[in-house]
Amino acid sequence: MKKELQLEEMSSWISAERPLVISGPCSAESENQMVGTAKLLAATGRVNVLRAGIWKPRTRPGQYEGAGSEGLKWLMKAKAETGLPVATEVANASHVEQCLKAGVDILWVGARTTVNPFSVQDVADALKGVDIPVLVKNPVNPDLELWIGALERLNRAGITKLAAIHRGFSSFEKSPFRNAPMWDIAIELKTRFPELAIICDPSHIGGQRELIQFIAQKALDLDMAGLMIESHIEPSVALSDAKQQVTPSALAKILEDLVVRTSSTANKEFKNTLTILREQIDGLDDQIMQTMAARMKISEQIGNYKRDNKVTILQVNRWEEIIETRIAQGNAMGLGDDFITNLLKLIHNESILVQQSVMNKVVEKA
Ligand code: PEP
Ligand code: MN
Repeated sequence: MKKELQLEEMSSWISAERPLVISGPCSAESENQMVGTAKLLAATGRVNVLRAGIWKPRTRPGQYEGAGSEGLKWLMKAKAETGLPVATEVANASHVEQCLKAGVDILWVGARTTVNPFSVQDVADALKGVDIPVLVKNPVNPDLELWIGALERLNRAGITKLAAIHRGFSSFEKSPFRNAPMWDIAIELKTRFPELAIICDPSHIGGQRELIQFIAQKALDLDMAGLMIESHIEPSVALSDAKQQVTPSALAKILEDLVVRTSSTANKEFKNTLTILREQIDGLDDQIMQTMAARMKISEQIGNYKRDNKVTILQVNRWEEIIETRIAQGNAMGLGDDFITNLLKLIHNESILVQQSVMNKVVEKA
């Protein structure tokens, strides 16, 4: 399977200083709310694209499901009044057709749509031969392949102005976030497709406005290309996602307080120092790999020995002793408990696998 995405650089289809800022209400609720919010956002001078949901995928029926087609008119009015490009969510071919007809500039595929290859394909088919930017939110569940699959479906339909939106993942684990960020998944996406721009959506990750600043800063520190932040002229009366929306002036403050760091610099001394430090890291990683390989070899020997003496692989006391002594030692060296425990668990699991494979060899022979 072809693993590459044919992409046009984001800077070729939207001009913005980093970070690109997409903002607007969760839902377009009325002409006044939409245009009023849009004007205030435009006046901040920091918003590049207006957003608003027209068709809202809601968890339970009876919740506000969006204004529908009428909302499109309000969105286009907001565009006319501010001169800003507009974006909305599409989940099926009819949404796509209505948006194209109305002149919407950018489309996005929502988290509840990305999970469903049928729906994504439906959207992709409706977009054949159309040259419009499409942003793909991560699926609700933490499945990177599904996220990539949706990007690929659109790409195969000819969409090359693609970007991803990281909006966090559903999780049973207790967390302060509405959707757990699981940053490692976004990082893995960036690693596999370095040319793909990733936009962070701190509103849907946080679920409450107080968390937006922190999440947005973290996204920028991970070198994400942009931010999608929900903003409403009067968040307390918003018909959807009231707790996570901010006023346009609060948005301006959030953006002002962000520290934008660059991923590289022309400063020669910085580059030299970085090269030296990276060489040190390379050397240490090399040692870590060699040490791990040596450790696994010994696990294999232990496996052989246990097998010959009919002893179980797992010996809880020994494992407890390892955890205890290594945490104490690691702590003394400035390493955190969680890090040491996670690392040891990984090593221990691998060691058990190695020992099991030794045991199985004999079972096969017998
Ligand atoms: C939204 O952007 O308002 C939305 C519904 O987002 P998500 O698909 O991330 O839940
Ligand atoms: Mn929302």
